[in-house]
Amino acid sequence: MSSNSGFRVAVFPGDGIGAEITEPTLRLIERAAARAGAPLPDWSHCDAGAVHYRDHGTALPKRSIATADAADAILLAAMGLPAVRYPDGREITPQIDLRMEFGLYAGVRPVKPIPGVRRVLADPRAHDIDYVILRESTEGLFAPQAPGTRDGDREARETMVITRPICEKLFDFAFRLADARGGQRKVTSVDKANVFGAFAFWREVFEARAAAHPGIGAESVYVDAFAMTMVQKPWSIDVAVTENMFGDILSDLGAALMGGMGYAPSADIGDTHAVFQPCHGSAPDIAGKGLANPTAMILSAAMMLDWLGTRHASRETARAGALLRAAVEAAFAPGRLVTCELGGDAGTAQVFAAVGDALERQDA
Ligand code: ATP
Repeated sequence: MSSNSGFRVAVFPGDGIGAEITEPTLRLIERAAARAGAPLPDWSHCDAGAVHYRDHGTALPKRSIATADAADAILLAAMGLPAVRYPDGREITPQIDLRMEFGLYAGVRPVKPIPGVRRVLADPRAHDIDYVILRESTEGLFAPQAPGTRDGDREARETMVITRPICEKLFDFAFRLADARGGQRKVTSVDKANVFGAFAFWREVFEARAAAHPGIGAESVYVDAFAMTMVQKPWSIDVAVTENMFGDILSDLGAALMGGMGYAPSADIGDTHAVFQPCHGSAPDIAGKGLANPTAMILSAAMMLDWLGTRHASRETARAGALLRAAVEAAFAPGRLVTCELGGDAGTAQVFAAVGDALERQDA
């Protein structure tokens, strides 16, 4: 925290719909903080993204990294544009670079539909599902230490990297999370150990860490079976921990089960830093049209306030996070708000206004 104000937050509006959903979210955070009696955050806006790369030749400038490094938390909206690419054809992804830069190995992706949002799964037992996909976010098939290779137009190869130190930290994080959630107190490791040696190793490390957390249940399942469980029996999941690429795919499935990308928040957490950002990308197809659903961004901001509150023992900051989350749930009370994403007419401004009004109605 800076001396005379609140937590220092590095803000990356990024590309596409990023700018549209950032500023109103900052205003909501300020209102929630004021209501909870928490100090107002101290914002530092940072340049990064595809447009920045196109105009200045760098996707993530050093001064933005330095600002993020010095901040108490990092709030990021969306980055990348399909039309702006590195010479080798890859998209600009500073959000992934930040994960590598700060060692943000634990990608926390809650799957918890908002009660009033149209239900995707028909089974009544799926209506109050509440679990977390914990996506390893620095290695696996995204490992920067093993860039893919290409042999002309003949073949291309990728390498998957699974390391013991990261796995151990990730699995310990998963067991602590299952403990703190106080629900089923169970961690499911999602792998493909029947086919890949790297996943057999992953499973071996998982089982060793599970033995160190005897109070929490542990099981290992194959990723294909787990994808079915997410649809057929999601109430059986508590914390599911998975490799980077599997987590990327499964968390989009989780987002769809919550109503769409605009509803899925996330946090990428390391030992010293954390980035909070919606699971979605920059959605260039709807950018500038006022159609973006900002709910995932608002819920990511609530996760940031929770994390800051817990980490710095600031009850008021954690309370601001809880107020923001309660305001989102109230704004989406049945019959109130149907977003454009779900075929309704509530665009970006309507969602922000409804959450802002609901915030004023919450008991601080
Ligand atoms: P990335 O790989 O960077 O995560 P992506 O390729 O998965 O991005 P998104 O930008 O997330 O793509 O968009 C996927 C689809 O979801 C698009 O049709 C987009 O319009 C929609 N979408 C994404 N975010 C939102 C949002 N906040 N509100 C409404 N629709 C969204």
